[in-house]
Formats: sequence, C-alpha cells, structure tokens
Amino acid sequence: MIQPFDGHAIAPETAAFLARPHRLLINGAWVDGAGEMETRDPATGLVLAQFHTGGAAEVDRAVKAARAAFEGPWGRMTVADRTAMLHKLARVMDAHATLLTELDIIDNGMPHFIAGLTTANCVEMVDYYAGAVMRIAGTTIAPPRHIAAETEALTYTLREPIGVAGQIVPWNVPLSTAILKLAPALAAGCTVVVKPSEETPLSALALGQIVLDAGLPAGVVNIINGVGAQAGQALAEHPGVDKISFTGSTATGRRIVQAALGNLKKVSLELGGKSPVVVMPDADLSLAIPGVAMATFFLQGQNCMAGTRIFAHAAIHDELVEGLAAFACSMTLGHGLDFATTQGPLISAAHTEKVMGYIERAKADGATLVAGGERLDRAGNFVKPTIFTGCDNAMPLMREEIFGPVMAVQRIETDDLDAIAALANDTPFGLSGSVWTRDLSTAHRMAKRIRSGHVSINCHGAVGTNIPFGGYGQSGWGREFGQEGLDAYLETKAVTARL
Ligand code: NDP
Repeated sequence: MIQPFDGHAIAPETAAFLARPHRLLINGAWVDGAGEMETRDPATGLVLAQFHTGGAAEVDRAVKAARAAFEGPWGRMTVADRTAMLHKLARVMDAHATLLTELDIIDNGMPHFIAGLTTANCVEMVDYYAGAVMRIAGTTIAPPRHIAAETEALTYTLREPIGVAGQIVPWNVPLSTAILKLAPALAAGCTVVVKPSEETPLSALALGQIVLDAGLPAGVVNIINGVGAQAGQALAEHPGVDKISFTGSTATGRRIVQAALGNLKKVSLELGGKSPVVVMPDADLSLAIPGVAMATFFLQGQNCMAGTRIFAHAAIHDELVEGLAAFACSMTLGHGLDFATTQGPLISAAHTEKVMGYIERAKADGATLVAGGERLDRAGNFVKPTIFTGCDNAMPLMREEIFGPVMAVQRIETDDLDAIAALANDTPFGLSGSVWTRDLSTAHRMAKRIRSGHVSINCHGAVGTNIPFGGYGQSGWGREFGQEGLDAYLETKAVTARL
C-alpha cells in the first residue's frame, strides 16, 4: 500500500498547516473562495489538501484591497519603516523555513536539497530587497534649454512605485518564484495580488500567513489560488492592475500580453527555454560530467534554464556521453523528503504523459537512447533521467521545451566558434546557456556569441539574488533579480522647477 509521503515524517508544523482550511487571502483576512480543488503529492499521487479557488469576483476584491493599501498605509509608510517591515518578514520566513521547505517538497516533488536551498535563497532575497529600499534614488539632470535660458531651473527624477502588481506564479519552483516577484514589488512600494499555480497552491498560502504574522498592513499582499484560465486571466485583464509579472510557458505568456492590452498595463514575462550547453575539446570533464548532467536533471528538468541541448565536441563526445550516462544511472529517484533523493517526481500524471511522448517521438526520430527512456516502476510521476545522442536541430527533442529529465546530445565536428554559436542559437528561446572549456579566450568569446540573457562558464544556471535574469527572444520580456528586478516595479518621473 502507498504510504503518505512514502512513509517519511513531516514536521508537526507542516502537519498542522495541512490540517487547516486553505482559503484565499484578501485584505488581510482568510476568506472562502468560489470553489475548491485538491492538490496531490506527485511522488505518491495521494491527496495532500483541498484548497479554495477564486475567479473574477475574488480577483476584483483582491485588486481593490491592494489599491486601498497602496493608496493608504503602504503608500504612506516611510522608507525606513518599509525596510524594517521587509527585514521582519525575512525573519518570520526564516523561523518557518522547515514548513516552507516541506510544503514545496510535498506539493511540487522537489528533492530536499533543492527545497532547502530555495527557502534559504528566498529569505536572502527578502533581506536583499529590504536593503535596496533605502537606495531607491532618482538623479538630477540639466534642465531643458528653453527654461534654463530664461531663468535658474532644476530638473530631477523621482522613482515611484508602479502601483498594484498582479503576479502569476508557476509550479516548478513555487515559493522561489513567488518571492522573486513579491520582494522587489514590496520594496518598490507596490502592493500585490499573487496567483499561484493550481498544481502547487500550498507554500504561497503559508507565505500569506507569514506576511500577516510579520505585520504587513491588510491588502499589501493578497493571494488568490485558482485555475489559470479563470483567476490568472482575470488578474491579467483587470483594469485596476498596473503591472503584471508572469512566469510560465511561452504559450500562456502570449495570452497574458493579449489580456494586458485593455489598460496597457506594464508586462514582465519570464518564459520557456531550451538552453544550449557547449562542451569544447579542452573541457575539464571531471567538472563537465556532473555539471552538464545537472544542467538537465536539476529539478527533474522542470526548470526554465535547464541546459537540455548538449553540443559535445567530437574530441570528447564519447567520454562525455559515457560519463553522463553513468551519472544518470547513479541518480537516486524517490520522495523529496528522503535526504538521499537526487531526483524527484514530475509535477503531474498529465505532464509525465507529455514528457514520455517526447521520449517516444525522439526514439521514432532515430535518436539513440543511452540512458533512461522509461518510467520508474512505482507509484508517482517518476521518469528516469534520460539521454539521447545522435540528435540534430530539426528534432522536436532539440527544439521544444520538454520540462522533464531529458537530455539531447549533438556531436559537433568544428572548432569554429561562430559555427558552434550558430547551432546553439538556432532556437526561438534565449534564457540561459553554458560553455565548458579550460581556455579563457574561448570561454568569453563563446559567452559573447550565445544569444541569451544568462551564460555560465564551467557551470550552468549560476543565478543569484543580485544577478539579473531574463530572456532574449521568446524567453521573455524584462529582467528579474538584482537591481533590474526592482526597477521593473518603479516608474520614473521627471520634475522641472523654474526657480
Ligand atoms: P502555464 O504557463 O500555463 O502556467 C503558469 C502559470 O500561469 C500558472 O499559475 C497557471 O495557472 C497560469 N495560467 C495558465 N493559463 C493562464 C491564463 N490564460 N491567464 C493567466 N494565467 C494563466 O504552464 P503549465 O503549468 O500549463 O505548464 C506547461 C508548460 O509550460 C510546461 O511543460 C513547461 O514547458 C512550461 N513552463 C515553463 C515555466 C518556466 O519557468 N519557464 C514554468 C512552468 C511551466 P494554473 O497552474 O492554475 O493553470
């Protein structure tokens, strides 16, 4: 018989959280939604909890509450108090780190080592943006000639919060994606309505309680779980929302843009990827084998910056593939609560079907399977880490975001960096990428040639709180993290005074 959490224990706080009702957070209070859904542990398929869902009416109430908080207590708060309040939020999050970590493990399926890391990063991010509040600053500029010619004058700029931000969060790193939107928005002085994914509603609700416990005024943070096409769509369309920030698929990103047209709200998009990994003949394979493997298999491959297209130079191709296959076979698949687990389940049965469809298509297209290629024979949505060689850029395996543990290796015969870059850049996406070489010159020349918002050298996906992240091409609009993440929630106002 399948045991809840595969027989692993959860903390008493997590058990107590699961037992409480999971309602909507509107204007500082937990309220009933229009409907209910259930969320499951993807490692066992067992139901974790029922949660309330909202539609257009609940979104409307949340937006009005956010507007009132923006024009009221949050908007009037001094920057010193806003800084202190965000640091307090970070401390309360830290005090509930086990709860936040375990909720993302059981709701999303991620291994403990990833969930623990992302919770710690979330606390760091709230502190980082709390520190940035005091540094929000405009500039002084020379006044316009027609004024300055007549009289003394002064021109300066103010950075002001955009207003009410709608934030639509996906399921692949639920807490982390909520925080990387929420923290800069609050630091800028905005108020927010967060729409988590229906697949992973829980950590956002725990965060909502933490926001209340930290003492943020009512309406500053509102959380509306619900179906994307209803709650998400209503949020993206709402005329009272000044900015929408979305992370998810490129297809839904297009719908967000359409929905935002009504009031021309500002839009940030962090969309899909199909990131290239270039392994040169002089690469240190002791680094590259585990690094390239985890470029694909980190988070079960459900990772927008996953490096899933491997361009392996012929000189090292066979040794690299042999090492990657051995690494894939050595991964420990299991429940994320088991500390030994290095790869968890995929998010849902439907998504597993989709990933298996890509695997079957790759076999039919003539790619050579060297590892995995099948489900694990147990409950839950487990797919073995999978590697195909003999791939080319025409295959769907090389072109489409699979969002699963599936790597495609293409052998490259040339040393010409422009030719390699042309292969790497033959994609509509441009989110991440990496180059593996011992040659400093090759490394930086290749980094320059790869058309994406983020490139790593001898590592992959080296993102950080203070490092801007976002996409070229169809991987998105704008940047998150760092100063640019804060700028995305600020307007610039220029003021000229005739003195
Ligand atoms: P979506 O892009 O559809 O979902 C992302 C978020 O958008 C969720 O909160 C979802 O809500 C919401 N949403 C869905 N439809 C709408 C809409 N019409 N208006 C407003 N919000 C909406 O991704 P999926 O979950 O369907 O996953 C499909 C594929 O997307 C994956 O296989 C993967 O390739 C890609 N993806 C990429 C991510 C990334 O980080 N780049 C993250 C997640 C997925 P709900 O979950 O309730 O439907």
